[in-house]
Amino acid sequence: MSAPLCPMCGKPLAKDTLNIRFAEPRPRTRAEAQRLTNQHITSVHRYHVNADFISSANVWDGKTYASRYEPFCTLRCALAFAQAAHRAGYVIKSRKG
Ligand SMILES: [Zn+2]
Repeated sequence: MSAPLCPMCGKPLAKDTLNIRFAEPRPRTRAEAQRLTNQHITSVHRYHVNADFISSANVWDGKTYASRYEPFCTLRCALAFAQAAHRAGYVIKSRKG
């Protein structure tokens, strides 16, 4: 499934990922990290001092996208959309007469 697109800017919504930190034994490769988490890994992060080891990984459930401002990618896009809708004449609540 491809990511839903923001109705304002058309960018794909970000995946809703969870960061998992590894304890010992820490994985050295993305494949090892994959086996330890048994989830879809979107990115891995290595230690600064010893880059041989992976400190954490972001995992994704394969279906959930960041929905904080759904269906928009950001609050900025939601605002721009609302202002454009208002300029086009949309009103949720009108003044009572
Ligand atoms: Zn957007």
